[in-house]
Amino acid sequence: MSGDVKCPLSCSYCFALQPNYVPQDTVDAALKEAATFGKNSSLLVQPCCDSEIFARPDDGMKILFLLSELGHSISISTKMALSDHMIRGLAEINGRLDKIGALLSVTISIPKIYNLRKYELGTCSIDDRIINLEKLAREGIHTVSAIRPVLPDLSAKEAKDIVDVCRPWCSNFVDGPFYTRRSKYLKSHAAQERTTKIEWLSNDRKDWLVIDNAATRLALKEYILDHPELRFFDGNIQAVEAALSSKTCPLKSS
Ligand code: SF4
Repeated sequence: MSGDVKCPLSCSYCFALQPNYVPQDTVDAALKEAATFGKNSSLLVQPCCDSEIFARPDDGMKILFLLSELGHSISISTKMALSDHMIRGLAEINGRLDKIGALLSVTISIPKIYNLRKYELGTCSIDDRIINLEKLAREGIHTVSAIRPVLPDLSAKEAKDIVDVCRPWCSNFVDGPFYTRRSKYLKSHAAQERTTKIEWLSNDRKDWLVIDNAATRLALKEYILDHPELRFFDGNIQAVEAALSSKTCPLKSS
């Protein structure tokens, strides 16, 4: 489920901002479709997955409250600072879902901690993202830290530093590859990165490739696996499935 309108933020690595990107269903269409499944806590809905759900915080919260009435588990991802008012709303939604065996999962996206502004404009600071994780954990809301996309200049050390700033509050981590246009980054990174065509992009986007910073992704995964209290997942769906099956409280510190 993607946003109705283009995300107003400006992440230079964003494939969804490209003029030839075709979003998935609008929120309205997706809400209607979700309603046809009836109350079903085994379904997972990911609203605004190619946008920023809290670019307009009131609209984002409204979507989440509507979805929570349908009784499906919800996974969202954000790069915005969450106000106390929003945290209270998210806690209410999570409580509502918890009663029927579903959950709300909030992914905080942290692709860089050094030189973040080289890649992102309009998003919140790293400090605010860690505060988000703390506030969510204190409310017992499931969190995921997404080191995604793994950018070509993300070193293994920086990836581990990201884990270290998140792990007091979040034990679940995902990564993800970096999608780009053929011409933009490949000249400088082709030598050290493996590139693969993106099958899920349609025919008119044949110039899109994925740059897989495999060395950093491997180091990141190994670092997380070296810490028994942390968990690495292939994606948000897997992280939510694991949480639903264990229903563990994400709060690690008080
Ligand atoms: S917040 Fe997400 S959708 Fe918006 S510009 Fe950044 S990467 Fe793209």
